[in-house]
Amino acid sequence: MPGSEILESIVPRSIIIGNSILNKIPQIIVSLRFKPKVMVLTGTKTRHIIGEEIYAVLEQEDITFDTLIVEEASLEAASTYQDSVRDTNSNILICAGGGKVIDVGKYCSFKASEKTELISVPTTASHDGIASPFIFLNDPTEKYIGESRPPVAIVADIDKIIQHPDLPRYLAAGVGDTVGKMTAIWDWRYAHRIKSVRFSRFVGGVLQSADSLFQNQVSEALVDQENAIKVVLKALLIAGVLMGTSNDIRVGYGSEHLFSQALHSETPDNDILHGERVAMGTILMAKLQGQDYQQIINILEAAGCPTNIDELEEEIDPDAIVNALQKAHRVDSIYTILGETGLSKKAAETLALQTNVISS
Ligand SMILES: [Zn+2]
Repeated sequence: MPGSEILESIVPRSIIIGNSILNKIPQIIVSLRFKPKVMVLTGTKTRHIIGEEIYAVLEQEDITFDTLIVEEASLEAASTYQDSVRDTNSNILICAGGGKVIDVGKYCSFKASEKTELISVPTTASHDGIASPFIFLNDPTEKYIGESRPPVAIVADIDKIIQHPDLPRYLAAGVGDTVGKMTAIWDWRYAHRIKSVRFSRFVGGVLQSADSLFQNQVSEALVDQENAIKVVLKALLIAGVLMGTSNDIRVGYGSEHLFSQALHSETPDNDILHGERVAMGTILMAKLQGQDYQQIINILEAAGCPTNIDELEEEIDPDAIVNALQKAHRVDSIYTILGETGLSKKAAETLALQTNVISS
């Protein structure tokens, strides 16, 4: 029919959050494929935290599998890993780890010639990539590489996530990535008004309700680590799934993420977490958008997430923030509060100082 539009929503088939649930993986595999060819992807550290237990669970059910240790998440490395996936004819990838392993897994499943399903087994609750269909690879600047299918299943074992050696920091970064949805959704609506991009009222409404719920729950939840993991995980999963539902990255990716990527380019050797950069970007962009940025600072402070460069674990130059603010609009073609020309140096400095992201 002329003028009709086909919207395809792809969402995970199952999301399991709970304690000691890795033994659910074999039944997911059996439900997916008559002849599964499984590959387990882990990182060097996550192999010991979670990978070996997954190997044991699969062996117990007589499911044969190949293994792959992901050491790097550059585009070049991901292409090499993709060769291994192809050579083993793997059609189910179990990605157990943090962002790096899951992003590489998404890339491999995206590039595979045959349909390759991905089971995401996150070891942190620090970013929404654990459920979204979008891939970020650190090459050269955490650039958005492309869209994949979202994971077919997400198995989030609280007992494993709680063991992360740097749990409070990663959880706080998860809160940082979650508050970023407030500025992302504002940008999406703005782009709809200014550039007529498609905006889903349904997705926008669901995300906003989920965000309010998160804001109400998060301070209380942070008192208890296990509860905090569940609240942050659910918020990240909702955002990731909504990206797949609407097939639009703008659900969770606005000017705050553009700033995050620009800052990553300015400080490539720095070990600032994605959610920590997004948190600072959210404070800055909320102020530009006329939103209550102090409320965002309050949520982040309650979570222990850095709200200015002095609180970061690694030292960064205030100029990096100002430069990133000036360059952020060029990171991606999506239209945001930054417009087509971005901020002047003076405006960027004023914004960073007014929000206390840098000190005078
Ligand atoms: Zn993010």
